[in-house]
Amino acid sequence: MRSDVLAFDTSAPAARPGPAPRRISIFGATGSIGESTVDLVLRAGGPAAYHTVAVTGARNIARLAEIAIALRAEVAVTADPAGLAALRAALAGTGIEAAAGEAALVEAACRPADWIMSGIVGFAGLAPGLAALAQGTTLALANKESLVTAGPLLLETAARHGARILPVDSEHSAVFQALVGEEMTAVERVIITASGGAFRDWPLDRLAGASVAEASSHPNWDMGQRITIDSASMFNKALEVIETREYFGFEPAQIEVLVHPESMVHALVGFRDGALMAHLGAPDMRHAIGYALNWPDRADLPVARLDLAAIGRLSFAAPDPARYPALALAREVMAIRGAAGAVFNAAKEAALDGFIEGRVRFTGMATVVERVLARMSAGSGLGNVAFSLDNLSEADREARALAREEIAARADV
Ligand code: NAD
Ligand code: MG
Repeated sequence: MRSDVLAFDTSAPAARPGPAPRRISIFGATGSIGESTVDLVLRAGGPAAYHTVAVTGARNIARLAEIAIALRAEVAVTADPAGLAALRAALAGTGIEAAAGEAALVEAACRPADWIMSGIVGFAGLAPGLAALAQGTTLALANKESLVTAGPLLLETAARHGARILPVDSEHSAVFQALVGEEMTAVERVIITASGGAFRDWPLDRLAGASVAEASSHPNWDMGQRITIDSASMFNKALEVIETREYFGFEPAQIEVLVHPESMVHALVGFRDGALMAHLGAPDMRHAIGYALNWPDRADLPVARLDLAAIGRLSFAAPDPARYPALALAREVMAIRGAAGAVFNAAKEAALDGFIEGRVRFTGMATVVERVLARMSAGSGLGNVAFSLDNLSEADREARALAREEIAARADV
């Protein structure tokens, strides 16, 4: 099927593809995924094991400089041009270059490297990811927003330049691992799990009043604030359903979501003979990151080992559509396709900004996204928009503008 692009061309690789990756870059190094990546690289020996080309961040300049120095990176890039002077000052005398802005991020992604962690949050991760793939660089993709927005563009770019995309989202890494050695045609269904987020057990009528602080604490995973809130609303799982479709090429009807409060089974792959292959592990992103960093080998990773006897039981439930309206919106997006993913992601990002800033209620986020999707798909050719960075950026801009309009104009969100 897509084994030319995807690494799970199911016969396990006969031999390692040359020497282990040595030149790496970490985009979004100061974030949750980025810090976990830095941790693994340092544990593996840091500069003695990997040559770090670029590290990037946004507002936390002091931490970005520390990481650049610890890994002896060639260049540190902040997305925020206002931070350049501070970054230069922090790196003075180290010989590490400092740069800033979107163009500098893309330039850093174009520097020759074997492996790049795409750990920027949001649409901003797309352009550097495409630039890296166009150089033939392996992209370890945590930035799910770029697959949701531009899946076909990413896969085509990878195919054209002989580059690989390795999944880093825990569910997708789990599916990927369950597929090693399997025929894609033997797959019947894929089940990705969801913890249910911070409000899994709240009465439905309390959800509208949920605060940002309440939504920002995850029962199992320690992640960035945005993805944690998206876990409470299940917008994160909605993105991941689309991500599963785009990355592996499964039909929407083959992709299921299961609420699993313990977050230990990350995904299951069901085969035509009825077998289910489940991937279990502690909820620690260093597993999926480490798998992508060492693929196709496995390396020792500093993650907790599950003691199933001590855990005793694991539980599962079907997601409640009334509690998690984002999941039905994901189905709509997959039915429309084209630029619908870009619209969905952008409207979601704008609605999330609104929630964090106190302008939208927790339950209003889904309403905003639903309205923007309805307005932009009504009578338009949303499904036929060609996948180019320009077209998708345009759809992204329009969806954000409409979302802000919905938030400003309506008291009911
Ligand atoms: P985070 O907020 O902790 O970190 C985001 C990183 O991106 C930071 O380095 C930040 O400086 C940088 N950044 C923010 N805005 C930027 C912009 N406009 N331009 C360039 N850089 C910018 O986020 P995170 O939780 O690490 O998530 C990163 C990505 O990984 C997201 O796409 C998320 O969905 C995905 N992901 C995260 C986890 C997790 O456990 N945290 C799990 C699965 C997938
Ligand atoms: Mg995930």
